[in-house]
Amino acid sequence: MKYSCVIFDLFGTLVDNTSRDEYNLILTRMADVLGVVPKDFIGHWKGTFYDRMVGALQDTGSNILNITDHLGVEVGEEQLEEASRIRRDFTDGMMVPKPGALEALREIRKRGLKIGLISDCSSEVPLLWEKNPLSSLIDVSVFSCVEGVKKPDARIYLTACERLEVQPEECLYVGDGSSHELTGALYVYMDPVLIRDPREKDPYRIDRDSWEGKEIQSIPEVLELIL
Ligand SMILES: [Mg+2]
Repeated sequence: MKYSCVIFDLFGTLVDNTSRDEYNLILTRMADVLGVVPKDFIGHWKGTFYDRMVGALQDTGSNILNITDHLGVEVGEEQLEEASRIRRDFTDGMMVPKPGALEALREIRKRGLKIGLISDCSSEVPLLWEKNPLSSLIDVSVFSCVEGVKKPDARIYLTACERLEVQPEECLYVGDGSSHELTGALYVYMDPVLIRDPREKDPYRIDRDSWEGKEIQSIPEVLELIL
């Protein structure tokens, strides 16, 4: 067997990505609750992406306050809670395993391979992770907002390997290509494969890899790569 471990990305890989329209709609709803101009809020929200991903903005509330402070708007506790709830519920709603994902993970385990997760995500995700049906099938989950480092930084891949007790060369890395994650995986000598899901419509994706390497369309296809 060539691999001893499969490492997955989360959004756009094990669960769906949000679409651009849907994302803007949620941010507009948050802006409305906060009484700020949606366009301004959306601009600042997207501008704080990096700080959100590496946990410099530690929770939804501090992210929102960082923005409203910049905009010179004072918000009450209830507004803050309601806007945070919209974000949390949105994230929760996104974390539904893709068709065939749970079954494929079970089969990967049955074949004796370890499974890791490396996700560039904000604070809501680790809080919601434990109750997610994916989490019990994954040996080690590494979240950028917890580690303080995001893809494609080599450290996040190496942290996952260390905790999984595997070498990067033994890992198949599966991701939809945001955050230049496939390039990052290749850099540490993992074997990356792009998942290009034909079900996706106008996905919201940041720093997309241009990738000409191995490609699959669904999670169950991973099983063919680890034969
Ligand atoms: Mg992704």
